[in-house]
Amino acid sequence: GEFAQETDLLVIGAGPGGYVAAIRGAQLGMKVTIVEKGNFGGVCLNVGCIPSKALITAGHNFQHAKGHDSMGITSDNVSVDFTKVQDWKQSVVNKLTGGVKGLLKGNKIEIVQGEAFFASEDTVRVITEDSSTPYKFKKAIVATGSTPIEIPSFKWSKRVLSSTGALALPEVPKKLVVIGGGYIGMELGTAYANFDTEVVVVEGASDILSGFEPQMTQIVKKKLKQKGNVTIHTNALAKGVEETEDGVTVKFEVNGEEQSVEADYVLVTVGRRPNTGDIGLENADVKISDRGIIEIDDQCKTSNENIYAIGDIVPGPPLAHKASYEAKIAAEAAAGKPAYLDYSAIPAVVFTDPELATVGYTEPLAKEEGLEITVSKFPFAANGRALALDEPDGFMKLITRKEDGLLIGAQIAGTGASDMIAELGLAIEAGMTAEDIALTIHAHPSLGEMAMEAAEIAMGMPIHVV
Ligand code: FAD
Repeated sequence: GEFAQETDLLVIGAGPGGYVAAIRGAQLGMKVTIVEKGNFGGVCLNVGCIPSKALITAGHNFQHAKGHDSMGITSDNVSVDFTKVQDWKQSVVNKLTGGVKGLLKGNKIEIVQGEAFFASEDTVRVITEDSSTPYKFKKAIVATGSTPIEIPSFKWSKRVLSSTGALALPEVPKKLVVIGGGYIGMELGTAYANFDTEVVVVEGASDILSGFEPQMTQIVKKKLKQKGNVTIHTNALAKGVEETEDGVTVKFEVNGEEQSVEADYVLVTVGRRPNTGDIGLENADVKISDRGIIEIDDQCKTSNENIYAIGDIVPGPPLAHKASYEAKIAAEAAAGKPAYLDYSAIPAVVFTDPELATVGYTEPLAKEEGLEITVSKFPFAANGRALALDEPDGFMKLITRKEDGLLIGAQIAGTGASDMIAELGLAIEAGMTAEDIALTIHAHPSLGEMAMEAAEIAMGMPIHVV
């Protein structure tokens, strides 16, 4: 027969799941091969987390450059050269994707460019334009990620965009329709709104940013309203799109009434589909659900005991840090170490204006599970740093167990939420109580002080609120 390459650990996909799994596998002494059919860094680095945050920053800088009336700062003739914005965004992406390749090489990982396909339960074929090479593995980790869902009434085109297209626009649109008010739609919609695009959001549910409490989404909606160039339609059903010579006409229905909007582009962000359909999982005895999700145990092991799956193709929120966390567990398990998943302190962040962040239990979830909890909330408006930043909107909320003050969850709506949630994730992970947080000295003046203050509220002894 054909001579197959042999490897200890074969990783499929080099996104934040795959490349992390490969590195950890190599660190644990395995001979590792990673196969990637597209760009190193996956969705996250190339067309996801990183370029979207770069555009968001550029949008903020544009708004800030235009002045800050409340501080007496005004300016004229501020303009944006969007080609340069795109070049800068791409330079950030290139630095990071180049870094990933460097890390893989530095860890002596064999890098294979091509499309992987399971030929049997212990062999993968790597297919390129002119070759098909078999690799026999002892263990494999599947990290093939996900793809934007295309809906039949909104076929992708030059003007009907997925998130990938919206990140790569050559110009600032005058008007943009966003179908789907999830985090991707709201982040990109807000970024363009900050570049002065008129944005119309069409969301099927009764609120945007599902998964976050109304008291959090309300703050985002208030800010968008203040911007003056964003309209949000909820309970709205997207019907279809017609392309005109220089734009699109989008039809949608609200309360049985049909509406239509003309715009330059329409961004469709209605969810993502796992890339599990055409990688030969059936040849490897790996079971998938009818939605294409791979079921795993608490070590990321699939129905084939030598094959693990991580990231957007397994249950749970499709987030980069979840993929990377699962990667470490899967690599350790593949190396025979006793590593097990524990999702109790996995954060989720939305980079809107302001940012929203959550970790662990929310108030509704704790109540649903009948837990006896204390909810303590500290407003940004009572924090000195927040006022000095002119960012008085929002709150930090701690969920503690009534019997002993154990921190089990936290939510933050407001500037800096994405960074501040880390302290609370750590506190949950470390089994800390409100008292532990309250007795931790936080630098003054800082947004981080709100954690200490909210913990003091939980103990019934706040200093800066009555
Ligand atoms: P991916 O990153 O999708 O990587 C999978 C890789 O596998 C790809 O490179 C693909 O080419 C490769 N591949 C697929 N099939 C094969 C095959 N057969 N053979 C070889 N290679 C293959 N998450 C966050 O946590 N924070 C954010 O701020 C954030 N922002 C986002 C913004 C946008 C616009 C989008 C679209 C996503 C965002 N995400 C964010 C989600 C995040 O990008 C994903 O959760 C993450 O990339 C999933 O990692 P992964 O390793 O599972 O898969």
